[in-house]
Amino acid sequence: MARHRITVVLSQAQGKHPVKRSLEEAIVAALIMEPGIEVSVVPHLYDLGPDHTGRLFLGSVRGDMVVLSWLFPRAAFWVLDRDGIKGQWGETQLKPPSADDDEDEAGEPAPAKGIGALDVPDRHIYCLDLRDFNQYQPYVDEIRRIAEACKARAEAKHAKAPAIVELGMNFRNGDQDTPVAEASGSSTFAPDQLLAQPGRRWYPVIDYSRCTNCMECIDFCLFGVYGVDEHERLTVENQDNCKKGCPACSRVCPEQAIMFPDFKTPAIAGAPIGAIGNLKIDLTKLFGGAEKDPLAQAVEERDRELVADGRQAVGTSVGLPKRQENKETKPKDDLDNLIDALDALEL
Ligand code: SF4
Ligand code: SF4
Repeated sequence: MARHRITVVLSQAQGKHPVKRSLEEAIVAALIMEPGIEVSVVPHLYDLGPDHTGRLFLGSVRGDMVVLSWLFPRAAFWVLDRDGIKGQWGETQLKPPSADDDEDEAGEPAPAKGIGALDVPDRHIYCLDLRDFNQYQPYVDEIRRIAEACKARAEAKHAKAPAIVELGMNFRNGDQDTPVAEASGSSTFAPDQLLAQPGRRWYPVIDYSRCTNCMECIDFCLFGVYGVDEHERLTVENQDNCKKGCPACSRVCPEQAIMFPDFKTPAIAGAPIGAIGNLKIDLTKLFGGAEKDPLAQAVEERDRELVADGRQAVGTSVGLPKRQENKETKPKDDLDNLIDALDALEL
């Protein structure tokens, strides 16, 4: 059996923040000589266009991968999925200190009821949030643990089905020619191209573990961002049509499945549902009176963009979700109230 390797990709912060750069460099320096781990650095994941070398490199990685970025793990995972870089969700044990304190209050995240991703290969992608710790050591320790877990999983698979592993399997596109343990080397990509800084982008990212394909976002968005793919699934078809800085449709989605990873409000940027729960008590105590109706806010934001485009504001007359129709009869649950409180904060 080939020696097992995992690929670690560090996605840089936007800009040149010295403290962030120093953490990034410390993590890379600590891992660079680590056996069984290949480390690469790419610019901010969310900004990578389809032709960027960093995106091409990520797409070339076969086998298990750890991605460190300045994004919520859920957002990073679904940005990658959006770019065709797919895998099973890798559960990490790295929790920010505040999450440990509140673990009991957070409870279990709600079970996923979305339509799920398509064509997911049998490899794992672990996403770690670089905002959780300002020291490199917790990240390095967790990556070592993940590397061991991946190795054990590969060995178990080998013991179960030696013929398949010896033949090898490329997890992408059904190609069966490349051994499981081989990660594509970043050495084939020129470092200056890998790190070429892309312009900033703004588009919605869909969490298909939550999206139920209800199509309310298509009805609401009047800028042609959303469409339906060949499987009749909601897709972000024209992502660059989205209006920079506007998160309107994320407030309309009844499942909180639409993320804008660079938005300031955690609930919209992709905070895990458990983490939103963690914030519940403090926020409602501190800001309980500041609640705004998210649908009214979304309508306001959409109208602003329509007018900026030289079009007419439509108010509540177009594309308001069924949720709005039921609004008077269906009381908000705790999660709705919390999302509203978070939205109102605009942290
Ligand atoms: S509104 Fe939300 S749940 Fe419905 S299709 Fe759009 S993303 Fe999916
Ligand atoms: S934020 Fe606005 S423009 Fe962008 S997809 Fe949502 S509704 Fe459409």
